[in-house]
Amino acid sequence: MREKLVAGNWKMHGSLAENKALLDALVPQLASLKGASCAVCVPYPYLFQAQQALQGANVAWGAQNLSQHEKGAFTGEVSASMLVDFGCKYALVGHSERRALYGEDDATVAAKFVAAQKAGLTPILCVGETLAEREGNITEQVVARQLDAVLAVAGVAGLAKSVVAYEPVWAIGTGKTASPEQAQAVHAFIRAKVAEASADVAAGLVIQYGGSVKAANAAQLFSMPDIDGGLIGGAALSAEEFVAICRAAQ
Ligand code: PEP
Repeated sequence: MREKLVAGNWKMHGSLAENKALLDALVPQLASLKGASCAVCVPYPYLFQAQQALQGANVAWGAQNLSQHEKGAFTGEVSASMLVDFGCKYALVGHSERRALYGEDDATVAAKFVAAQKAGLTPILCVGETLAEREGNITEQVVARQLDAVLAVAGVAGLAKSVVAYEPVWAIGTGKTASPEQAQAVHAFIRAKVAEASADVAAGLVIQYGGSVKAANAAQLFSMPDIDGGLIGGAALSAEEFVAICRAAQ
């Protein structure tokens, strides 16, 4: 039986004061969360703050990106081992904003996935199609290509130690959520694709949905058989919304 995972992606939001208020609210309210896990992926400078606030709490933490390199002359970059130093459990890889705004191609995303796992982090691999790709009926082709790039370097054994987040790009930050049926169809496709390599890995793989999830639509999305929780952007900045979404995953 898979346990649902709800992860917040704070993106480039927050301040020491705002984060303190949010984390102070999350810790007690999520202490009793049962049968589901939760995490927050915070901007790099606030990892230490997250570590201090969340140590021993029922909320894990992680980063939103990492370098594919272990160390070296890569000005401005942050390595997987640095994230481990700050107690991270998760690292997002291949978020659509990284792919679209920072030119991360499938090979780079796959290299980041491997770098994260090598250091002991659990990568949350984001995949998903743009609106043009959906309208061109190539959603499955796009998602398959994104998964294949990772399978080629990490193998199905690598995928077994990861989380996949299906995030249709047209639903991210737009207020347009995929319908539970639309999301379920792609989740089922992802699971079937992984099952071609290993039925066991496919059955155990946590596949989150992301794209304008909020308290009002979370329960319906999470009730679909292949949707194992969510990756939450905007709504993760509100303690009330995020807690309600986590509870919907129970
Ligand atoms: C995201 O950034 O991964 C995301 C899903 O954002 P939002 O929930 O705001 O659509």
